[in-house]
Amino acid sequence: MPLVNLQSWILRAQREGFAVGAFNANTLEQVQAIVAAAQMEHAPAIVQISVRALQFVGSGNGTLGLKYMAEIGKVAAQSVDVPIALHLDHANEQQVAQAITLGFTSAMFDGGALSFAENIAVTQRLRALTQANHALLEAEVSAVPRPASGGTLDRAIEITQVQDAVEFARATQVDLLAIALGSVHAGKTKTMMLDLERLREIRAAVATPLVLHGSSGVLDEHIAQSIRHGIVKVNVATQLNQAFTQGARAILDADAQEFDPRKYLAPARDAMTERVRERIRFFGASGKA
Ligand SMILES: [Zn+2]
Repeated sequence: MPLVNLQSWILRAQREGFAVGAFNANTLEQVQAIVAAAQMEHAPAIVQISVRALQFVGSGNGTLGLKYMAEIGKVAAQSVDVPIALHLDHANEQQVAQAITLGFTSAMFDGGALSFAENIAVTQRLRALTQANHALLEAEVSAVPRPASGGTLDRAIEITQVQDAVEFARATQVDLLAIALGSVHAGKTKTMMLDLERLREIRAAVATPLVLHGSSGVLDEHIAQSIRHGIVKVNVATQLNQAFTQGARAILDADAQEFDPRKYLAPARDAMTERVRERIRFFGASGKA
């Protein structure tokens, strides 16, 4: 089916206590892995594209990357009969507007570098734009940190304050609200814990569907509990790259003479499909399409 705005599935997830997975893709094969997994699990899924993936796909030209991914996303969604959304992650104001114009069905505005008041002001502007285009807008209160290549974080780990979440949600009427609960982006092992008590407090005070970033570094038990306590969109990136690359590496390690990219990209795609399926089942979204 054509790309969809996943609002009705997000609201259903909130009512029924499951989460929709937002799976990052950097290549055509990774997009295919996500929609194949969604089809096999009969689940709704979000193909999520980072701004860095756009730079890669567009060979340094983000707009070109956006155009490629918009078209790849449309073809991929049409190749299956489960609902697929195409989401741009951590984008600035201009990138959100561009993505929605090109056919992305949702986007996350990253106001992490702005003051609280500026973050609200830009989110309000974008919310008017996304609504007019039948797309969803995600925004963030308190940023989830990201490690630099040396391993140091770009900001201290913070936890979203209940009052900030209430004020932000009320002022912006945003469709999806990303909150910081102690996770970090790009975690390579599942060792981190979330502040589940804070999540409970925010959930009790805010009706907006809530989003967890940085799930690859979080203990599965904490992800499961966060879904029980109101997270309805879980972002998954690092774990999928790990699976994809392991799939390719197994072939290349076994035969150093292999040169046909199809010979290692097909198993890479299959390995990522399996990982996405496992996450969909874990989030309780299997059979929910
Ligand atoms: Zn994120």
